[in-house]
Amino acid sequence: MLDLRLDGPALTAALVDIPSLSGTEKELADLVEVPGTGTLNGFTATCGGVLGLVRLDGTGTDFLHRILDATVDSLSIGQRVAARWADEAKGSVLDLAGFEPAESAPAEDGAVKALVTETEPLAERPYELELHYRHAYGPYYGRMFDELAADRRILGVKCPQCRSVLVPPRELCDVCYVRTEHWVDVADSGVLKAFSVIHLKFVGQTREPPYVYAEIVLDGAATRLIHTIGGIDVTQAAETLRPGMRVRAVWKDDKPTGTLEDILHFEPISE
Ligand SMILES: [Zn+2]
Repeated sequence: MLDLRLDGPALTAALVDIPSLSGTEKELADLVEVPGTGTLNGFTATCGGVLGLVRLDGTGTDFLHRILDATVDSLSIGQRVAARWADEAKGSVLDLAGFEPAESAPAEDGAVKALVTETEPLAERPYELELHYRHAYGPYYGRMFDELAADRRILGVKCPQCRSVLVPPRELCDVCYVRTEHWVDVADSGVLKAFSVIHLKFVGQTREPPYVYAEIVLDGAATRLIHTIGGIDVTQAAETLRPGMRVRAVWKDDKPTGTLEDILHFEPISE
């Protein structure tokens, strides 16, 4: 394996035998400094430019990186390349901007050198990911959400073979693999089958933890609908809730959105 650090501009690597090639498993050896020159062992065109596998002089593995100022037609396997460093170091692999063809780049004497000044490895680096997308409901989910928004109706579809009513509705019964036939109304109350208190935050979460995640079988349906339980003290959920208890939907008062968010949550029915 190649443990790579960019102490720009210098390439630092821990060189070890590759177990699958050598048949031995050895601990990582001391860090060494490798030169910025090497041989192109493979390349391909991508929409972001040319990527290549570079065998840096003195190393035993290929390093994948950008090949700059080149087209695939101008490159050949075995040709010499040299590192080009970014003007400004930002602590990412792109501090090494890539490799450029360097026909005359000599293999440096001794190639791999003992590391004189060791720097701290970059332990972690924060990244942010923002995702915008459109979720295509299709005709089945689409109709259910339309009816939710228009009339606060929850619709399912019935399987002609096992007679199960599927909520949310889908085109095929997932037990019989036959096409569903009739749309049917189901109640906005039902039975709590399972629940879990969510404490963890995760990407895309629409509710602030802690909250109660629940699987509910609505009256008239055969399948579980995923929603949340509210109107209770979440810290007491384990004592308050039990599978088999009856719950009902609490609808949002404001403008409907045509999503399951139009139901604020389900709450236990006091009986
Ligand atoms: Zn079925």
